[in-house]
Amino acid sequence: MATDHDVATAPLERQLLPRTALVDEKGHLHVGGIDLLELAEEFGTPLFVYDEDHLRHACRAAVAAWGDGVAYATKAFLCRAVARLVHEEGMRLDVASGGELYVALSAGVPADRLVLHGNNKSTDELATALERGVGHLVVDSFDEIARLGGLLESSPPSETRPRVLVRVTPGVEAHTHEFVRTGQEDSKFGFSVSSGAAAEAVAALELMPGVELVGVHAHIGSQVFEASSFEQAAEVLGAFFAPLGLPELVVGGGLGVPYVNGESAPTQAEWAEATLEACAKAGVDPATRVSAEPGRSIVATAGITLYTVGTVKHLPGIRTYVSVDGGMSDNPRPVLYGSGYEAFLPRSAAAARPRPVRVVGKHCESGDLVVPDAFVPEDLEVGDILATPVTGAYGYAMASNYNKVPRPAVVLVSDGTARVAVRRETFEDLTSLDG
Ligand code: PLP
Repeated sequence: MATDHDVATAPLERQLLPRTALVDEKGHLHVGGIDLLELAEEFGTPLFVYDEDHLRHACRAAVAAWGDGVAYATKAFLCRAVARLVHEEGMRLDVASGGELYVALSAGVPADRLVLHGNNKSTDELATALERGVGHLVVDSFDEIARLGGLLESSPPSETRPRVLVRVTPGVEAHTHEFVRTGQEDSKFGFSVSSGAAAEAVAALELMPGVELVGVHAHIGSQVFEASSFEQAAEVLGAFFAPLGLPELVVGGGLGVPYVNGESAPTQAEWAEATLEACAKAGVDPATRVSAEPGRSIVATAGITLYTVGTVKHLPGIRTYVSVDGGMSDNPRPVLYGSGYEAFLPRSAAAARPRPVRVVGKHCESGDLVVPDAFVPEDLEVGDILATPVTGAYGYAMASNYNKVPRPAVVLVSDGTARVAVRRETFEDLTSLDG
C-alpha cells in the first residue's frame, strides 16, 4: 500500500494540472500548446498562466450541471478577459463589491447577468446596482433592507423591479477551514433560519413594493469536499424555502478542488445531483430554479504559477530552503489558511520528487511560505523555473504589494497563443497612488 510519503514524492498527479497540459519528449510541460519554460522566458516570473480551454470547459460543466442561473463567483479571480469568457460560456457573474461590479460591467457583461452580494453593501453600491439594472441583489441584513427601501423611495418608479434573494444561514458547520466557513449560526453573513430572522426578512421584502422577492440564498463555505455538508445544508434550506412558494433557490459556492496528490473532490455534476436530490427530499417544488455560485472549482485548476528559484540554502540537520521570486504577495493562502500546494519543475514535469525542501518567497517574514513541505526533483538548482499548480483561485485575487513587490502578470493560453490578461505591475505603478 502506498504511504503518504510515497504519494507526496510521486510525480504530480494529472488531476492537478489544467486540461490541455501535456509533457513533451524532452519532459517539458506544455499548457495551451506552449512550453511553460517559453512562457517564463517571454513574460518573466512570477507569472500566472491560465488554460483558456480548461476555463471554458469548467464553465460549460457548471451550466450543464445547474442550468441557466448558475453564477461564477468572481472573487475567486476577476479580470476583464475572464469576465468576458465566463459570460460567453453562459454563466452569470456573482460580484461582491462595487469594484467587482465595476470590472464586470467594464468588461461588457450585461448588468442583468450580475448578482450583487455583500454583508455590508454601501448606499453607493446599492444605488449603482439599481441604476445599472443588476439582475439580482442578495440581501444580507435589516440595515440593507432599510437602505434599499430608502433608495427606492427616493428614485423615480421603474418598470422593472429589482429581483432580490434573502441570504440565510442554515446553521450548518461545513467541513472546511473556519475562516471560509459561512453557514454556521455565528456568522457575519445572512439571516439566521433558526432564530426567525430569515422569515422576518422574507416578510419585510414581500411587503416592499419596489422589489420583487424571488428567492433564498445560502453559502455554507468554501473548499468543501464532502457532499454530505451540501446535502445537510440543502435539507435545512429546502425545509425553510419550500413553504414560501418562491421560484429561485441558490445554494452558494464552495465545491472543493484537489490541491495536492491524493486528494479528490466531487465533480460539478455530482455536487448538483446530491444537492438537487436533498432539495427534492426537503419538499422543494421541482419547478424551482435551484442554482449555485461556484468560484474556486471554475478557475483553481486552470491556473499555474511560475517562479524562478533564486537561492537554495541547505541547513544541515534542519532543512533546505528554496527561495523563489514571489511568495505571500501573489499567494497568501498558505499563510492565511495553512493551505498545501505541490511544487514541480516544468522542465521535468513527470519526474519523481524525492528531495524534501521548503519553498519560500522573497518577503521579509518567516511566515512567507509557498509550499512548506515540498518534494522536488533531486537536481533542482538556482535558476530553475519552479511551478505551483492549482493557483487559479484566490491567488491573484488576494495578491498584494507587500514589500512593494509588483504583482505578477496573468496570461491566458490557448492553441499555441498567449495573451496578456493582466499586465505585470511596474515600479512606477507602485507610486501611482501616492500624493
Ligand atoms: N458565493 C458566496 C456568497 C461566497 O461567499 C463564495 C466564497 O466565499 C462563493 C460563492 C464562492 O465559493 P467557492 O469559490 O468556494 O466556490
